[in-house]
Amino acid sequence: MSTSAPDTMSASGTFAAVPLGGPTLPQERRMVTSIPGPRSQELIARKAAAVAAGVGHTVPIQAVAAGGGVVLDADGNSLIDLGAGIAVTTLGNAHPKVVEAVQAQVAQFTHTCFMISPYESYVGVAEALNRITPGDHEKKSALFNSGAEAVENAVKIARKYTRKQAVVAFDHGYHGRTNLTMALTAKSMPYKSGFGPFASEIYRAPMSYPFRDGLSGADAANRAISIIEKQVGADNLAAIIIEPIQGEGGFIVPADGFLPRLAEWCRSNHVVFIADEIQTGFARTGAMFASELFGVVPDLITTAKGIAGGLPLAAVTGRAEIMDASHAGGLGGTYGGNPIACAAALAAIDAFEHDGLIQRADEIGAILTERLTAMQAADPRVGDIRGRGAMIAAEFVGPVTGEPDGALTTAIAKACIADGVIVLTCGTYGNVIRFLPPLSISDDLLHEGMDVVAAALSGA
Ligand code: PMP
Repeated sequence: MSTSAPDTMSASGTFAAVPLGGPTLPQERRMVTSIPGPRSQELIARKAAAVAAGVGHTVPIQAVAAGGGVVLDADGNSLIDLGAGIAVTTLGNAHPKVVEAVQAQVAQFTHTCFMISPYESYVGVAEALNRITPGDHEKKSALFNSGAEAVENAVKIARKYTRKQAVVAFDHGYHGRTNLTMALTAKSMPYKSGFGPFASEIYRAPMSYPFRDGLSGADAANRAISIIEKQVGADNLAAIIIEPIQGEGGFIVPADGFLPRLAEWCRSNHVVFIADEIQTGFARTGAMFASELFGVVPDLITTAKGIAGGLPLAAVTGRAEIMDASHAGGLGGTYGGNPIACAAALAAIDAFEHDGLIQRADEIGAILTERLTAMQAADPRVGDIRGRGAMIAAEFVGPVTGEPDGALTTAIAKACIADGVIVLTCGTYGNVIRFLPPLSISDDLLHEGMDVVAAALSGA
């Protein structure tokens, strides 16, 4: 039995067919039912019966098409998308270049296993990543399926190269939900609770969090380095892994100088500096990679999410001598660098390089910041506004105490979704709303989305 959206739609009788996704989808917020509408409710009920309870969802709709700056549901509601599927459809959903590349590739071949019979697109993606990631040193890449898998492999590679074992991650950091990456991830609930035991030889250092610690970048780095030296020891340390701007942890932007000082310490101590750019990569922050904004050149960089316009692909890219430390057969996997995902990535990277998207991320960031700053001026519960490019967040606090206000944040996000605007929350204390719109969103739609956010805030 087919379970595709068009079948569901034809049963509705309210409109004939699901429009194609992509940028030609009408760019409007349109609410024809409350959320969730009846068809969405039906799917959510089937989900509850068929899908494991641990797989949650934020927006209770049945998505049937998406593109530009909207997501369409099975009830005919058109929601403004300020989340891009957690920073994945940075280019815009069903981007024409990606669609064309995928259609051509799927008709050619769908899989050979790169480890069995190599093909050109995998090598092309590796070449592109080696070229566009920070630093002009010789680089190599390896491709995987998910962000967590890329992180796991970056750690494997760093351990093999340094012949050391310990890895340092940071407070508020998020690196995935597999066993090793759960250990690297800071937050227990919901990511780790009850899922131990976790991988060994993982240590945690304090992050630079200017809104809460008030430290300069140098002081925050020295604090972290001192803890690393005392509690781990450089002689035992293979790598530190850090998100240049933390994603799930609350869009925490470290103070200037924090990342360069850490990178310099790593260089002097034969420790691999891994930048996890899975959320920040590919034009999202107003640079191709956020490391550039802080003047750091990572030894290894992990990428995923925006890399392939929504298809599952991830990579580790880095210094050739580090990447080549593994023996043949030590890295890889059946699907890693799947040809359809690679075709999509080549198209996506072409768009990131040539379609003015880095500039567009900054324009979007300016609008988001201006709108949030106006909200903050009128409402002391908006404690902090931070981020870069089209990766901007507001942290909500008790106006007198400055304590994180997760309940307020949840209420605002719920009200936005009910009113047809997809927003995502994040943060160790669940008190941050993050804005990650697709770069294909129009200014008008973005402003309308922020009008809804402002109304949700004043009503909360
Ligand atoms: N690292 C970072 C910085 C992320 O934001 C994420 C996903 N939110 C991951 C790793 C894990 O990626 P995936 O969900 O593709 O495994």
